Amino acid sequence: MTDLPLAGRGCVVTGGSRGIGAAVVRMAVAQGADVVLGYHSGEKQARALADDLSAAHPGRRCIPLYADVSDTEAAARFAASALDHLDRFDVLVNNAGITRDTLFARMTPEQWHQVIDTNLNSMYTVTRPLLMPLVKQRSGAIVNITSSAGLHGTPGQTAYSAAKAGIVGFTKALSKEIAARGVTVNAVAPGLIDTDMTAAIPEDRAEFLKSLIPGQEFGSPEDVACLVCFLASDQARYITGQTIEISGGLVV
Ligand code: NAP
Repeated sequence: MTDLPLAGRGCVVTGGSRGIGAAVVRMAVAQGADVVLGYHSGEKQARALADDLSAAHPGRRCIPLYADVSDTEAAARFAASALDHLDRFDVLVNNAGITRDTLFARMTPEQWHQVIDTNLNSMYTVTRPLLMPLVKQRSGAIVNITSSAGLHGTPGQTAYSAAKAGIVGFTKALSKEIAARGVTVNAVAPGLIDTDMTAAIPEDRAEFLKSLIPGQEFGSPEDVACLVCFLASDQARYITGQTIEISGGLVV
């Protein structure tokens, strides 16, 4: 096993400004990759992260670019610009996501569409313009971030659970379309991970959720990044079409 499993790889990570995406960006650069990190509202955070990583890893490139993955044209511009900025392109991590938690009976059309557009339609808007370079190159990896909610269903998260379940089907189908071209497509399904997303959960609910985890603690963004970077590397070349849950054994 090489010390730098992503050496020389070009990676694109959506939602790379904070949370799990930022941890993936940090780990990918540390493992030798050049990375384009997409941000939406977090330009300042994304630029600070890119500056830190460029200083810590001279010779590596870390490029922040604006991306609204819920918008087809904005996502296409992001994809084209990402390809322009990278010498080569090997790995796409579809990580950007949002929640709009509410009981289904109270859900507004705006909440439903925001969640579906950002979490599920982004699989189309971002992957479609970045697919052919990987297919033509006959190598590469796509890693989609889904959720335990998509596997088991979470009350208060019907739209989110539907979108994340959709990612599982998308991953399986696309993996079969392009396996013969040497491109893998896998999904990672985190349970409860310490980020801004889970910080928004009311404390009593968070304590209840923790009680469903055998180790009684949330995972870290780095726990997820390890799995994502493994799936992005050649070490995982024979794994495709899979959804791997990373949840500390969460029992729901
Ligand atoms: P987070 O800390 O809230 O970060 C969300 C990221 O998504 C940010 O970088 C944000 O960018 C980006 N984003 C949001 N809307 C966007 C849009 N329209 N276009 C482009 N980027 C957008 O969340 P996280 O916990 O790291 O979650 C990352 C992924 O893991 C998501 O797909 C989430 O569903 C999934 N997940 C998380 C958990 C968990 O427990 N945390 C569990 C299961 C799955 P800006 O900050 O620049 O706006």
